[in-house]
Amino acid sequence: MSEGYVLGFDEADFTQRELLGNKGANLAKMIQEDIPVPPGFILTTKVCKLTSESRSDKIPKDVWDEVRTQIQRVEEWTGFRFGDPKAPLLFSVRSGAPVSMPGMMDTVLNLGLNDQTVKGLDEKSGNPRFAYDCYRRFIQMFSSVVLGMEHSAFETCLEKYRLKDGVDQDCELPPGTLRSLVQEYKGLVLKKTGDPFPEEPLDQLKAGILAVFDSWNTARAKTYRRIHSIPDSLGTAVNVQAMVFGNLGDDSGTGVLFSRHPSTGENQMFGEYLQNAQGEDVVAGIRTPVDIAVLNEIHPALFQQLRAVSKRLEKSARDMQDIEFTIQEEVLFILQTRVGKRTAQAALKIAVDMVEEGLITQKTAVLRVEPDQIDQLMHKQVDPEKKVQAQLLARGLPAAPGAAVGKVVLTPKKACELAASGVSVILVRQETSPEDIEGLHASLGVLTARGGMTSHAAVVARGMGKCCVAGCSDIKVLTDEGHFCVGDLTVQEGAWVTLDGSTGEVFLGRVPVKPPKLDQNFQRFMSWSDQYRKLKVMTNADTPTDALVAKNLGAEGIGLCRTEHMFFEPQRLRWVREMILSSSEDERAKALSQILPMQKEAFKGLFRVMDSLPVIVRLLDPPLHEFLPTDDVNLQSLSQELEVEYKILQAKVDELKEANPMLGYRGCRLGLTHPEINAMQARAIFEAALDCLEEGITALPYIEVPLVGDVKEFSLIRKIIEDVACELQVESKIDYRIGTMIEVPRAALTADKIAKVAEFMSFGTNDLTQMDLGFSRDDAGKFLPVYVEKGIYERDPFQSIDKEGVGELMRICVGKARSVNPNLQIGICGEHGGDPESVFFCHEIGLNDVSCSPYRVPVARLAAAHAALKMEEGAERRKAGERRRETGGRRQVKEKKEIGSRGS
Ligand code: PEP
Ligand code: MG
Repeated sequence: MSEGYVLGFDEADFTQRELLGNKGANLAKMIQEDIPVPPGFILTTKVCKLTSESRSDKIPKDVWDEVRTQIQRVEEWTGFRFGDPKAPLLFSVRSGAPVSMPGMMDTVLNLGLNDQTVKGLDEKSGNPRFAYDCYRRFIQMFSSVVLGMEHSAFETCLEKYRLKDGVDQDCELPPGTLRSLVQEYKGLVLKKTGDPFPEEPLDQLKAGILAVFDSWNTARAKTYRRIHSIPDSLGTAVNVQAMVFGNLGDDSGTGVLFSRHPSTGENQMFGEYLQNAQGEDVVAGIRTPVDIAVLNEIHPALFQQLRAVSKRLEKSARDMQDIEFTIQEEVLFILQTRVGKRTAQAALKIAVDMVEEGLITQKTAVLRVEPDQIDQLMHKQVDPEKKVQAQLLARGLPAAPGAAVGKVVLTPKKACELAASGVSVILVRQETSPEDIEGLHASLGVLTARGGMTSHAAVVARGMGKCCVAGCSDIKVLTDEGHFCVGDLTVQEGAWVTLDGSTGEVFLGRVPVKPPKLDQNFQRFMSWSDQYRKLKVMTNADTPTDALVAKNLGAEGIGLCRTEHMFFEPQRLRWVREMILSSSEDERAKALSQILPMQKEAFKGLFRVMDSLPVIVRLLDPPLHEFLPTDDVNLQSLSQELEVEYKILQAKVDELKEANPMLGYRGCRLGLTHPEINAMQARAIFEAALDCLEEGITALPYIEVPLVGDVKEFSLIRKIIEDVACELQVESKIDYRIGTMIEVPRAALTADKIAKVAEFMSFGTNDLTQMDLGFSRDDAGKFLPVYVEKGIYERDPFQSIDKEGVGELMRICVGKARSVNPNLQIGICGEHGGDPESVFFCHEIGLNDVSCSPYRVPVARLAAAHAALKMEEGAERRKAGERRRETGGRRQVKEKKEIGSRGS
């Protein structure tokens, strides 16, 4: 057997994260840096791949032999023996993927207990309650993780005994009850599986390890990977570690802490502690823990030790840490450390503070914040003035900031169903479990009755940028009855509620929300990121309001103004309809003359906001029928408004009907058959620019022709625009350009011809994707989720550029265009312009700019910086590799020569 299958924490090379998994690598690092960590070993991701490749439900013999050797090493280290009826060693078996996936995979604790070893644990600890509590926990966990039994069967049993003994907490159950519980649990297993509960510790371990490997492929783990773009091929490692016990009594306990505040980023230790409990109680949100500061009162020395360890771990990792710990009879053990999940606000503050503290460089700080996280900062806040009048229902823990207004749903399934039909939903649960992941993803926010700031719901919500109020003990969720209660008040599923994740408040009804306030950290951070990016970031905006929002968020111009949006305004729509319905040139000219001043005013508004920055104005694009109503009632009222006979109107609507409008009479095809429309638009643009000039404003209009497939289409429209420019004599006064969208595959493939006459190009990747993949933009939603689920496309190609297909067309287009016009400005303005992965691709193929909706502008700015930095890093790594290979090669030649000379 080659190396790298099973490694002790003390012998593993902790830099090999892909092999050891994140948890294993961190445990190895800690133990090698003398942090108090219980000993153990790692079955690496190689074993996961081995078992899944061979589709085996067995651990290969040589791997198992290595496991047995490692068990002996832990036995020597601890002085306890696995399966020893007098002094039993117990193990925890935990997953640990190379990328942390909190709560998504399985864990088995207290493994090694049976009817004999439990007695040893009882005698050694002198604490029968503790020993039998561990045993019942083990059976419960093992049965659910390994034997696939429902957790609820055991919970019902436990609840029965709690009621019988009249106690609230599990830890108050007396040893006798726990003993009976163990027997009852075993009965449940026998009844359900037909086999007795496995007694042999080595069999338990084998089955436990395999089950934890298998949990890499559970539906929830797959969903989590899909949401977070984690490749399925990574696999997980499994960590087997000596158990330490937080449930030995009141001098024991367990907790989770963050080295800095994960919601605000404040540089203060933040965490929670649960006395006399095991880790899963905290993480699963079964019991609501207390603030870590309480530990300072109970045991100040331990609190100080914990603080020191937390600082050490943070300093060593140079990043905020999320640490799990257990105190066993006043001795501290660290069970895990990992980079802590945090809100965007916290991520920014921590990145900026760490630069100031000299812990990291500005470059590292920029790379520390994911572009998508920036999107969270754009989240709205509950309007503080309006909320004083709102009905406050309850108050919980402010687990993930932001505001969420939505309808109450009580099950993840309902959340997905309603969200799919466009309803905003808030998932309300007694407590969440990892199975709820899909429902959490579909909801705007989550409210839980139980669980603390470090519960599953809170951690996952923070990671996803959802608003979350957790541990709201004022509410009682009665899922089966379709409502939740707050005292005497009943809130039905479907009622509106508002969550304030920054304060923990829950309001009945819809409370108005306000746009976010961006603080100084944001401005500083973004200015650092701007130093590195090469791509210019523009915005897609059609109104001065949107343009201003985007400019304030750093947009360097308008990358796409869809002029049709201006046509939809009620006073303009009437004239647009007159134009469409006109039966003679004269009538059309009259209608256009009414639209002209309105378009002109609209353009002036944009030029004023974007003073001295380019504004790309696209000529009319959509099929004309979109401007006419289709239903009878609206047609009737239009016939009255325009004084056009209903029949004539109906006939025009029928005439404009197309079997496939997105591939029909739209884009430059409209301008080619109705040049007067494009001429009017060009006039409005130029006249607006001239007026602005008089106001002292520099307008930089870029006029863009949509849906071009052949250079001749472009040239003909260009001529229409130039004629207007000539007539208005703008040449010497206005710095304008005429360019084209690249939306039709043929345009991409003939870009060398187009680039000779176009002054700029912009990829309309919405249409380009539609036409390249042959997926209708309007209908693909029906089947695309299945495509993504089946892995045909890794992500929705309308959200993230399909690099192999659409991307290849873009690459060819850029190559061809630049071969004849090396300095041609090429950008992108499809939805993909705000998607970080697509922005990366645009950087890679050498585009000049990306354009996206106003609130995505900061996301695109940071994504562009990441792209530049990561490409630079990659190039440096490649260079270093080449240097190594070169010197290695030279050394080999030299050695050969030396050997040769020795031999001669
Ligand atoms: C595009 O096709 O990518 C584009 C930006 O144009 P529209 O979405 O308006 O068709
Ligand atoms: Mg388009």
